[in-house]
Amino acid sequence: MIRCGFCGYEFDPAEGKRGCGGCSGGCHNVHCPRCGYKNPLESGLAQRLKQVMHKAAKE
Ligand SMILES: [Zn+2]
Ligand SMILES: [Zn+2]
Repeated sequence: MIRCGFCGYEFDPAEGKRGCGGCSGGCHNVHCPRCGYKNPLESGLAQRLKQVMHKAAKE
């Protein structure tokens, strides 16, 4: 679960809006379904994402 840093609403990351197209440089956040605030992805998930991107850059 993620808690929105703006309104405090708790939601599942899968429930949030991703890839909104409105964030500069691509959307790497989970937008709160209630207020639309962009919350950073959970560190574990972000780390995995970084690893994948790092791997892709190497190859
Ligand atoms: Zn919110
Ligand atoms: Zn976004």
